[in-house]
Amino acid sequence: RAKESGRGRAIAFEQQMEREVRERRLLEADLREAFEFQKLSIEFQPIVEARSGKVASSEVLVRWDHPTRGEIPPDVFIPIAEHAGLILPLGDWVLERACSVAATVPELNSVAVNLSPVQFLEPNLVDNIASILERTGFPAERLVLEITESVFLKDVGSATDKLQQLRDLGIKISLDDFGTGYSSLSYLRQHRFDKIKIDKSFVAEIGERSDGLAIISAVIALAHNLGLEVTAEGVERQFQVDALRTLGCDMMQGYYFGRPDPNPMQITNISKEDWEERSPSTAPRNPN
Ligand code: C2E
Ligand code: MG
Ligand code: MG
Ligand code: MG
Repeated sequence: RAKESGRGRAIAFEQQMEREVRERRLLEADLREAFEFQKLSIEFQPIVEARSGKVASSEVLVRWDHPTRGEIPPDVFIPIAEHAGLILPLGDWVLERACSVAATVPELNSVAVNLSPVQFLEPNLVDNIASILERTGFPAERLVLEITESVFLKDVGSATDKLQQLRDLGIKISLDDFGTGYSSLSYLRQHRFDKIKIDKSFVAEIGERSDGLAIISAVIALAHNLGLEVTAEGVERQFQVDALRTLGCDMMQGYYFGRPDPNPMQITNISKEDWEERSPSTAPRNPN
């Protein structure tokens, strides 16, 4: 009997796997079509300077509004694009679109674009980005590339070279989702980044776990010692803002300050008055 039910489970498992493979193929075909017919879009989310509350930058996030399934999150379709060999053209499209839009909005200052590890490892990456900057007239100094430490898993040597070449162009490099990987601390020492982004899971723990603040505090101190700027992501609540400012966090990003928006003008509209109104206890009354 035990054998039988074991076999039953194996069959159920197989069927489940088949369903998932089929489901993935369908989504992959839909994604191909959406990309081909230019149905993807990008949104901009403000990144705010902690001290002044001014919008200092923004992150570009790709969007896919599926005709029957609605919004499919990038956490779902980016891995599909990677698997389907679509991530290079898709990533190029995001970069080019972001640069050409941002070129017309100087108020945005810098713009941060996420790079898939597959894109990062592609041998032509640096030339490719240089030509996108040239085509769009967007200055390299205003571009930030967000990468995750997984780019170092395969070939540390070539990843290190690439980082240097990108930085030589004037591009800034930000280490995204900091703290979620295996050895974030050692990567920080070995490589030249400009910024790190503390993963939103740590920010969510502020006030919930006593060690949440301790970890963030240690990361900020270490990053500042290495000359890196720190952004906290996923900031949703006033008490998180207060805690992060007290710890000396440089930049903040999250729903508290603004959701991703297709219109980049929209996100630069956070005025000083607006900020003071939202944050009466902490914003400087008279910053000049
Ligand atoms: P990420 O780069 O860490 O981006 C931050 C994510 O947190 C975004 O999710 C953003 O919408 C979300 N977020 C922002 N503020 C808050 C907040 O206050 N609370 C919460 N709970 N979430 C917040 P999104 O847009 O769903 O993107 C998810 C991930 O997909 C990104 O994580 C990034 O890894 C990837 N991604 C997005 N756009 C691109 C892209 O153009 N290229 C590549 N390769 N990856 C992308
Ligand atoms: Mg990011
Ligand atoms: Mg992140
Ligand atoms: Mg992420």
